[in-house]
Amino acid sequence: MMGSQDDADARPAADADTAVDPVCGMTVQLFGTPITLVHNDATYAFCCAGCRNVFAERASASRSRVGD
Ligand SMILES: [Zn+2]
Repeated sequence: MMGSQDDADARPAADADTAVDPVCGMTVQLFGTPITLVHNDATYAFCCAGCRNVFAERASASRSRVGD
């Protein structure tokens, strides 16, 4: 019974390193992912470029409603 550091598996509760893909709901790593998009001052991460495109289209679609 030597060593009381068996709790190395304890994970920090912070979710700062992960984000939820707003399109498909998948949890993705923020750190190191190339597929991100900054919208309304928030950084979104996506599992794939397809999801990013869907989100970008929605964002621009809601914008284009302005006018008229
Ligand atoms: Zn996705």
